[in-house]
Amino acid sequence: MPKLTNYMEFIVRQELPAVLASRPGVCQCRTCQMDIMAFALNQLPPHYVASSGGHIHTMVNIASAQLKTQVLVAVVNAINAVARHPRHKARPRPGRPAGRK
Ligand SMILES: [Zn+2]
Repeated sequence: MPKLTNYMEFIVRQELPAVLASRPGVCQCRTCQMDIMAFALNQLPPHYVASSGGHIHTMVNIASAQLKTQVLVAVVNAINAVARHPRHKARPRPGRPAGRK
């Protein structure tokens, strides 16, 4: 059964790990990654495709370099925005045992 996929989301998912890998100072927890994806996708026009099984993978191969560049710019903007205002509190510092008085 074919399902509807936002092709932009697919490219963002594909490109995000590499961009995050180049930004070691940025929190990479699941909350932040989801925020980054949401922020990036809100900047990009949706591009829905009806896909079944491996079809989407064929689509990726024909993705234009321009589309990918557009996604990378949006992902970098999103990382900058989320890094400035993470939705959660700062990560707990190591070296302070929790739950002991
Ligand atoms: Zn985080």
